[in-house]
Amino acid sequence: MVFKCQEDSFLKEFTSKVVKCEETKEPIVEYGKITNFEGYQITLENTILFPAGGGQPHDLGWLNGTEVLQVLRKGDEALHFTKEPLQIGTEVSQKINWDRRFDHMQQHSGQHLLSAILEKEYNLPTTSWWLGAEESYVELESVKVSSEIIQAAENRCNTLIRDAIPVNVKICKANDPALDKAHTRGLPEDCMDTIRIICIGNIDENMCCGTHVTNLSQLQVIKLLGAEPGKKGKTNLRFLVGNRVTKTFQTMLDRERAMTGLLKNEASKHEELVQKLQRNLKVTNKNLQNVLLELAQLEVEKVKNTQPKPQFVFMFKKEATPDFNRAICKGLDGEGIFIFLASEEPDKPKEGQIIIQGPEEHCSALGNQITELLKGKGAFKNGKFQGKAGDLGGINKCKKLIEEYFNKSE
Ligand SMILES: [Zn+2]
Repeated sequence: MVFKCQEDSFLKEFTSKVVKCEETKEPIVEYGKITNFEGYQITLENTILFPAGGGQPHDLGWLNGTEVLQVLRKGDEALHFTKEPLQIGTEVSQKINWDRRFDHMQQHSGQHLLSAILEKEYNLPTTSWWLGAEESYVELESVKVSSEIIQAAENRCNTLIRDAIPVNVKICKANDPALDKAHTRGLPEDCMDTIRIICIGNIDENMCCGTHVTNLSQLQVIKLLGAEPGKKGKTNLRFLVGNRVTKTFQTMLDRERAMTGLLKNEASKHEELVQKLQRNLKVTNKNLQNVLLELAQLEVEKVKNTQPKPQFVFMFKKEATPDFNRAICKGLDGEGIFIFLASEEPDKPKEGQIIIQGPEEHCSALGNQITELLKGKGAFKNGKFQGKAGDLGGINKCKKLIEEYFNKSE
């Protein structure tokens, strides 16, 4: 069956009768994301809401004000997923979420055009394609696609869009000789009885069940975003068509404006400025590292010079680096002092690193209590504990525990 949406892809409202309404628990699939669903699947005499197919996602819309959350094609029927049931025999007015549909039409017809140009002019056949929530891609039978080809193909597609080439739909029966000329990319096998061929001028003929624009000028513009390695030696060429180009451009402009604010300089200077910042950060880190190592040595000296010799060292230094901690441990090794060191993770202040080291009797008396207080992950190895603290919130309790333990033992 050819649905109303396939006969006229620009129809935004339509009236039809409910012929079936059944309960369903089939999940909703939205651009590859699966959500559980419990509700009803409604079949109508005909529909302007496109059921997912040919790589094009399903439409959204309303039946008499009842929201349609998904449309799926099962054989000859289009099932409309709703939260509320509808009485069989009711006349319903269908309305479509036109912004979403027109966006899908732009991406889908754009894909036909792009695939045709890549195959005919660059010998790069399309093996599949994906229409995503933000970007789409064609999967090409090639390990690599050069940036020259990408640029040339984009220019060629945009020229044809400017030339306003008409897009027509030919309807054929399964044994029609006209079918030999057309491709079968992405055509579901169970809709082979009536076959639609989407013709872009004399550039391309492609079997497809999707809804398409009627003229390439409706695509406005196509922008190729770049090629990445795909599955099994193939290449995914990412693209945007029409409104998605202007929308993405606006997002990029906003982002650039924010960067201009942060870097306090015009966009053409951003790269240079970020490189400079990175260089400065590297030098600053190196200096900090040196200062911390010197500080570690001083701390070690201080402990060694304290009289009487302390039984323990408790050090929670937020910015301590692994090198700092190692220097303290090494400096005080063999002094018979119980050492507890903690530092914060740079990006996760609640989490951190802990080191426990010292005479075995103290380590076994305190070790488990400390790791429990700090949600520590790690193990004692050769009389030393080195691991992660899952929550440094208990650090003060931990300090108290160690102090009380040693005061008692004095
Ligand atoms: Zn198609």
